[in-house]
Amino acid sequence: MPQILDGIRVRDAIMSELQPRVAAMAAAGRTPGLGVILAGHDPGSQIYVRNKIKACQQLGIRSETRTPPEDVATGELIEIVQEWNGRRDIDGILVQLPLPRQVDSKRVLLAVAPDKDADGIHPCNVGRLVAALPGPRACTPAGILELLKRYGIPIAGKRAVVVGRSDIVGKPVALLLLHEHATVTICHSKTADLPAVCREADILVAAIGRAAMITGDYIKPGATVIDVGMNRIDSRGEAARIFRDSADKLAAFDKKGSLLVGDADPFDVAEKAGAYTPVPGGVGPLTIAMLMANTVAAAEGRAGPC
Ligand code: NDP
Repeated sequence: MPQILDGIRVRDAIMSELQPRVAAMAAAGRTPGLGVILAGHDPGSQIYVRNKIKACQQLGIRSETRTPPEDVATGELIEIVQEWNGRRDIDGILVQLPLPRQVDSKRVLLAVAPDKDADGIHPCNVGRLVAALPGPRACTPAGILELLKRYGIPIAGKRAVVVGRSDIVGKPVALLLLHEHATVTICHSKTADLPAVCREADILVAAIGRAAMITGDYIKPGATVIDVGMNRIDSRGEAARIFRDSADKLAAFDKKGSLLVGDADPFDVAEKAGAYTPVPGGVGPLTIAMLMANTVAAAEGRAGPC
């Protein structure tokens, strides 16, 4: 039986480790604060932000949310960021993506002070990651490393293949694995013979955004498969194909009108992997826990100047 890497369990552990650190700061009159910008009406973003605020409340972190309208200008968002950059009671700044279409997201993200970059995606912090210097790390990749370490999955000397080269997942997780001494290959949509490359992996990270694309012929028997994908499928036929007519899954589909599917085929991964993250309940819960960890670390002043 493969080992299921339970992201909820690891998230709970991380949160309970953060709690006394927040309490100690609060007792010293220095409650950590997170500023959140939620611009426009993206329904997915609204849910993510709600969950992030809930996590702050659970830990005793003070959060402040600004919800500018859909037609907000780039300059207005930069003004909010600059105000928070200058405030001592705001330790972390989170700009929820995607921003409305007319906004220059890069300029807004660049305006965030690097030591308040709760998402760990400011180019300055990307540079710190490349150079293996301390600093906030991108949350999802950092969560993946926590999961691997806490489950004692060996990384040093192993072959790791990352499918996906985005700035928020693929590239940073590849660098984190490299720093842990894995031999890392990064793949993307132009990679030739992707299944053969993936079959070399002891650790296979799928960060693609394509439902159930990683089938059995991509997986070396016994490999650890980290499935980052969060794909909502709203076709009953596709749900029936991916979940092989599972009555439970189809009942869930009929109730909600959609189902969440990872990038790995759920049956193939359970059959071939030695360990894997389920979807939901694998990587997803860790992202928010690491956002909290970055905020607490920033408040403790560990991030240092850029
Ligand atoms: P992006 O769309 O930014 O990147 C996807 C990557 O996958 C690209 O590098 C792309 O290659 C590659 N790709 C696409 N199709 C193929 C293919 N057929 N073969 C090989 N590579 C392919 O996505 P993100 O990195 O932002 O997210 C990836 C997934 O992870 C999504 O499902 C997203 O929802 C999920 N996610 C989950 C999080 C969580 O907390 N669990 C957090 C963030 C993301 P190319 O560069 O050549 O186009």
